[in-house]
Amino acid sequence: MRPEALEALVDELASPGNASSLHTSGRRARRTVEEARERLAAALGSSPSEVVLTAGGTEADNLAVKGLYWARQTARRRPVVVTTAVEHHAVIDPVEWLVEHEGAEAVYLPVDAVGRVDVDALRPVLAARADDVALVSVMWANNEVGTVQPVAEVAGVAREHGVPVHTDAVQAVGWLPLDFAASGVDCLTVSGHKVGGPVGAGALVARRGLDLTPVLHGGGQERGARSGTIDAPAVRALSVAAARAVAAREAEAVRVADLRDDLVAAVLDAVPDAVLRGDPDPAGRLPGNAHFTFPGCEGDSLLYLLDARGVECSVGSACQAGVPKPSHVLLAMGVPLHDARGALRFSLGWTSTADDVAALADAIGPVVQRARRAGLSSARARA
Ligand code: PLP
Repeated sequence: MRPEALEALVDELASPGNASSLHTSGRRARRTVEEARERLAAALGSSPSEVVLTAGGTEADNLAVKGLYWARQTARRRPVVVTTAVEHHAVIDPVEWLVEHEGAEAVYLPVDAVGRVDVDALRPVLAARADDVALVSVMWANNEVGTVQPVAEVAGVAREHGVPVHTDAVQAVGWLPLDFAASGVDCLTVSGHKVGGPVGAGALVARRGLDLTPVLHGGGQERGARSGTIDAPAVRALSVAAARAVAAREAEAVRVADLRDDLVAAVLDAVPDAVLRGDPDPAGRLPGNAHFTFPGCEGDSLLYLLDARGVECSVGSACQAGVPKPSHVLLAMGVPLHDARGALRFSLGWTSTADDVAALADAIGPVVQRARRAGLSSARARA
């Protein structure tokens, strides 16, 4: 966490109060929450009344997908949800849940080899079936391979057909220029821990007048869109972190992209057959993202070997019951299954330094050699 966010969190934890209560502590907590809402809105280019506070990005994505879907089933049934094959599971899984339980029909827009969605694939869907479409959901930038999506174009096409658009901007806030009002989208997801704030805090920024059926029912907080006592310490810390991330964005994006470029060069130098995935053009990728596949390696083995040397990274895909599952993002990009198994994502952030990159540069060559030897000997054992 950013120090100013941690300080805000701890300070607020020391003064408990329920922002819905009318007594002095409650009114104080309400003031804190509304100031935080204003700070967050200013950082995101929205009006404070458009901010629906949630317990993280997953909840905001669920509220957007299910809430919009249900709200759009009016006199006319609209079963279609249009999204992409590379969304985070916080979007894909609610969509699949709607398919399974509510008779929805999912349309997954394809992506190209760098993971960018094809807006031309959206046009015919909307031209043929706009009246059947409940919503379009396209992420602002991909969390695995860092590819930036053409969200403004998507919003433009959807608007022509009167279809609301959600974007998961969890990875974009504080790294890419982002202005909710100018973006053309109807709602946008934010998560605290991606901007140096606390885990378990987030928001769905929803255009005024957007009809959302709540997922959580109860005390009617957040204009009825999200019931539950507001976590004032988390909200304050989230807003402080987001404001700081956005204020520092321009300089940080350049600094971190430079470090990322050094990291990419160092990895390719040490492991010449490693393949950089996502957009090789820095303009089309998140500044802090470097994603590779290492032929002949298991991503998990690399992860543990690097971890033992103090380098923490991610395979970027799910592991179910101990069985590694290749990333749906890489498969959608057309990466062959055996290559997708050797995926590793390095994420840089506001704390990253040149020393971190140097540590990885030292470790990656020997680690890949060791993982390949292990892969060969287990293949021999299986034979
Ligand atoms: N969406 C994206 C693109 C993410 O990267 C993440 C988290 O990694 C989420 C949603 C989920 O957010 P949270 O962890 O706040 O629930």
